[in-house]
Amino acid sequence: MHTRRGLLRSVLGGGALLLTGLLTVPILGAGGAAPPPAAVAGIPETPLRAYQAAGDYCPGLRWELLAGIGSVETGHGTTNGATADPDTGEVTPWIFGPPLDGSPSVRALPIGRWLGWWGLPGPWQQAVGPMQFLPGTFTAWAIDADGDEVANPHDLDDAVMTAANYLCQGANGEIADERAALLRYNRSDAYVTKVLAYADALASVAVPVNGVVCPVAGPVSFIDTWGAPRSGGRQHKGVDMFAAYGTPVVAPVAGRAEQSKNSLGGLSFRLWGDDGNFYYGAHLSAYSTAFGEVKAGTILGYVGTSGNAQGTSPHLHFEIHPGRRSGDPSSPVNPTPTVAASCSAWRIGVGLSGGD
Ligand SMILES: [Zn+2]
Repeated sequence: MHTRRGLLRSVLGGGALLLTGLLTVPILGAGGAAPPPAAVAGIPETPLRAYQAAGDYCPGLRWELLAGIGSVETGHGTTNGATADPDTGEVTPWIFGPPLDGSPSVRALPIGRWLGWWGLPGPWQQAVGPMQFLPGTFTAWAIDADGDEVANPHDLDDAVMTAANYLCQGANGEIADERAALLRYNRSDAYVTKVLAYADALASVAVPVNGVVCPVAGPVSFIDTWGAPRSGGRQHKGVDMFAAYGTPVVAPVAGRAEQSKNSLGGLSFRLWGDDGNFYYGAHLSAYSTAFGEVKAGTILGYVGTSGNAQGTSPHLHFEIHPGRRSGDPSSPVNPTPTVAASCSAWRIGVGLSGGD
């Protein structure tokens, strides 16, 4: 028997691996410093964790799309006052859709061999669980995401990962057209429009993944250049996040932010996070007025080319130093896995070279 938390961490690692091909484990998980994702944008913590764990299940699947389905289907598993057990992920009382009994605009699907399947009473089939699967569809694509040896359609972890598997048509699939993928889930244009609108709205707010908000609030591209050679014999100690000049740069976590001007970094910021980690960002074109105590997602400045980035494409040089509340932040770790997870909604292309 595994603990749910441990398995979800390994699932997150696997998702990141699919995204970049470079990653092994989420860095911030190692120090235990990152807080669990809080309830955000009206999504309770347990479904949020399930959606984020299943994002990037295949290329083209963003976790926000799964959240859109969960929102439209059952309000993230809250139909009729249901709630999710934070340890098992199971939603109780069990949720069932209306009987598919052939009444006007409803298909007629007799229960047949599914009588009693996860509580189905018959005589008609009903959609089951927080992601509202028909029994045959769930069974065909089922994944036991939390490793309790049962693929349970009432379990958010299993249901959401199964939805990812179905949307992707398998782990080796991909989603090139979100609308087409969603139409397979539910053949209704109105439904698909609703899910996409929810997903797009969610992508436009600062939602932490593994406790960290994407520090660039707009389309961004980056690759893993950790340790790459830089001028003066230096090694690259961060990630260069390329974005349009003037794109907002936001606090990745809550904490105390201060402005820091230096010849290499230009207009840069230092942030002592409430999560116990230190964050550094450089080459801003301008600062905002919001320094001091800031929330995650607070705009600190704007992407630019200041310091030694003059002549490069505009980018944010971004560093994470675990466990540094104050003093000399001298021990950064590769921030690429963290931003790859947090920035999936904004990420375009695989990145540019030539940062600093
Ligand atoms: Zn850099």
